[in-house]
Amino acid sequence: MKEAYDVIVIGAGVVGSAIARELSRYQLKTAVLEKNLDVCNETSGRNSAVVHGGFAYDEGTLKARFCVAGNQMMEQLSSELDFPFIRCGKVLVGNTDEDMKQLERTMAQGAKNGATGLELIDEERLHQLVPAVVGKFAMWSKTSGILDPFLFTVGLAENAHANGVSFFFDHQVTGISREPAGSDSSDFHYILHTAHGDFRTRWVVNAAGLGCKAISDMLGITGYRVVGSKGNYIILKKQMGALLPMPVYPVPSNTYMGIHVTPTVDGNVTVGPDADLVDDFSYYGVPQKNMDALAESASNLWPHIHKEDQIRNFSGILPKWVDENGVIQDFKIEVKDDIAPRAVNLVGIESPGLTGAVPIAQYAVGLIKEREALEENPDFNPIRKGITRFAACTREEQAKLIAENPDYSDIICQCEEITRAEILAAIHNPLGVSTMTGIKYRTRAMMGGCQSGFCQMKIEQLLEQELGKSETEICYSRKGSWILSGKLREEPSV
Ligand SMILES: Cc1cc2nc3c(=O)[nH]c(=O)nc-3n(C[C@H](O)[C@H](O)[C@H](O)COP(=O)(O)OP(=O)(O)OC[C@H]3O[C@@H](n4cnc5c(N)ncnc54)[C@H](O)[C@@H]3O)c2cc1C
Repeated sequence: MKEAYDVIVIGAGVVGSAIARELSRYQLKTAVLEKNLDVCNETSGRNSAVVHGGFAYDEGTLKARFCVAGNQMMEQLSSELDFPFIRCGKVLVGNTDEDMKQLERTMAQGAKNGATGLELIDEERLHQLVPAVVGKFAMWSKTSGILDPFLFTVGLAENAHANGVSFFFDHQVTGISREPAGSDSSDFHYILHTAHGDFRTRWVVNAAGLGCKAISDMLGITGYRVVGSKGNYIILKKQMGALLPMPVYPVPSNTYMGIHVTPTVDGNVTVGPDADLVDDFSYYGVPQKNMDALAESASNLWPHIHKEDQIRNFSGILPKWVDENGVIQDFKIEVKDDIAPRAVNLVGIESPGLTGAVPIAQYAVGLIKEREALEENPDFNPIRKGITRFAACTREEQAKLIAENPDYSDIICQCEEITRAEILAAIHNPLGVSTMTGIKYRTRAMMGGCQSGFCQMKIEQLLEQELGKSETEICYSRKGSWILSGKLREEPSV
């Protein structure tokens, strides 16, 4: 049995990491159990990375409330946690009378939700904002933006860690039981079972994303129906971002935002997502037919989508909580005092869970504070510094960095100009992550045009060397995704 905790959060996506950070503001012994080898390995790293304006959700819902609140606090979060965020705005482009009516309804709904900066614009203004876009008019959301979802999550998690939260990766929670605590026969602790031992805790927080129903069932809160909606994407090469100043969306339906084109904070463009209902929550392959359909559909909005510019694809799966008729429900964030006291249960945290992660976390921690007094952590420090990006520095700054540390003069990833110093900083990250994607998401190495053809083995060797591991111990991303599984030819022993 591991030592006892006040709170254990299950899941290190953006929501679990945000909750961990909020908890670290208080004098609590907190841990996060994550089944993957890093933060942000599931839905939080597989999305459009758009900071939504808050107009797309029904009035009075938690989705609307947390989206507007999350949007408004993004500059502060970005400056505290040192992750890229650009308030670039976005447009929803229409052509028909029905499109216009839907945009007017969306504007009205946005106003009720407290979303600001919404304006209907004509074709001329639309073309001033996004030159090549195809459409007759649009709703312009000036407060929408884009961020780096990996670095947002890494920032939240690293800051939580620096403020005292322990992170355990490769720790899948496989069962939850209870054991008596102290002399009061009605009091109990939760015991969380993992393949690496049991964890005892007073409070549990279910932030398991696609695993939310399984954890909810383990807590005894049964009956939720959660379906998966898979969205596929294509990524276009970095130069394309210069042609797309802001995300371009079609007019949304009530339940689906439609296939859109979105610039990333680093200048790539993502095209997607479609939306397929899936039962398998672990298959992330992107079929060619989906890629072709995405390119065709998005070309009706923005004509710069060509095969030769497509460098990669990815997909993400939304956990949608639905009722018995299949109607999508609001976020559920609850403490069922009668069934599972001291368990904060989050179900169906789909979009806009990235935008709303911190308000969601504040609300979840608020549910704990309603039930017991929490003492503030006087040492809480909200500031986390990321890895200095050499390629983004001025010539003078680069010269200074090289003078201080010659590893800045050794470019490991040519496409993205990532230096040995940055790779080493990522390898020695505070969370102890040692996968290839752990380095990729923290530095952008391997994300360029050659898609790691040049630098992958150099980075793999640096991981071996720095961490004292053998080549067969390095994983690409998930458990078991070995980069090298053995030698083709052994040297004969003499
Ligand atoms: C296609 C798509 C597009 C989207 N676009 C946007 C957007 O533009 N803007 C926006 O605001 N939102 C967007 N979203 C929604 C957003 O990505 C999610 O709401 C958010 O990432 C949810 O975060 P999470 O931490 O709840 O889930 P996750 O990131 O899935 O984290 C849950 C974690 O729990 C872990 N876990 C699960 N079961 C267990 C277990 N038994 N034991 C231990 N660990 C476990 C998982 O490994 C995972 O790391 C999009 C989502 C998708 C799929």
